[in-house]
Amino acid sequence: MRFPPTRSKASRDESGTVGRPDDLTGGLAGLIASIKPLALCDSCIALDVHVSHAEAHEAAVSAAMGEAFERRVQSCHRCGRTVEATCAR
Ligand SMILES: [Zn+2]
Repeated sequence: MRFPPTRSKASRDESGTVGRPDDLTGGLAGLIASIKPLALCDSCIALDVHVSHAEAHEAAVSAAMGEAFERRVQSCHRCGRTVEATCAR
């Protein structure tokens, strides 16, 4: 069994931090904390943090597993839709 060639030639160069999950989680937490007690939906989080909707959804769900945030159906502060949105407790 052979491993696929997943390593890029720049794998040791860690100068760029674009798109790292830690940054996304931190950015999301800061964003939602800054509008507390209002909530943002996944789409608006994605636009604001510059990630895909799927990435924003994952980050929001994992953030809401902790004590600091919660997800429920409510009005999004930005787009006004009533959807599952994340807010700070
Ligand atoms: Zn929204």
